[in-house]
Amino acid sequence: MARYREAVCRLCRREGAKLFLKGDKCYKANCTIEKRGTNPPGQHGAARRKMLAGYGQQLREKQKVKRIYFVLEKQFRNYFEKALRQRGVTGENLLFLLERRLDNVIYRSGFSTSRRQARQLVNHGHIFVNGRKVDIPSFQVKVGDVITVKEKSSKNVHVEGAWQTAVGRGRPNWISAGSEDLSVTVSALPKREDIDQNINEQLIVELYSK
Ligand code: SF4
Repeated sequence: MARYREAVCRLCRREGAKLFLKGDKCYKANCTIEKRGTNPPGQHGAARRKMLAGYGQQLREKQKVKRIYFVLEKQFRNYFEKALRQRGVTGENLLFLLERRLDNVIYRSGFSTSRRQARQLVNHGHIFVNGRKVDIPSFQVKVGDVITVKEKSSKNVHVEGAWQTAVGRGRPNWISAGSEDLSVTVSALPKREDIDQNINEQLIVELYSK
């Protein structure tokens, strides 16, 4: 699968917003956006920042959401087509499909400090859903699913550290953490208000509806 290999903080600067791609650093004062502001990367980045409207604005919003959830264009488009076929508001359906990806749930649950790290945990076979290993990051969780980390991996310093910091970050209402072990239950489907990043999904619907 194609992967993005450049410095991820550039992506935040390109989109002019914190996308939380780097793990712990994103929550600290040395976050690149906190230190250097939201101007696009490059020597003439500040001069390149333009007021966008219409197509440009829709395109940037789509790129931003793709980058937040770390999915490639083709897969993102497939999610949109699926959202379009579902009942309800297409833009919200799109976000719910992205939120229910296993790698996102791992991140939102606090097993990792970024979606990238979450994807690695899934790809490397550290994650179990209802007691069965699932190594597909795009796996869609459903209500009642119990997600755990392989016993040996739960002692991993990165996983333990992420789990502790998740208390400070907070978990969304639709994910309940186990009280004794490193496990979570999907207790409901995500709602729009559970997605706290600044996203205007209607712009993406407008872009793909042209
Ligand atoms: Fe973005 Fe995180 Fe880098 Fe800050 S530290 S610029 S939020 S990836």
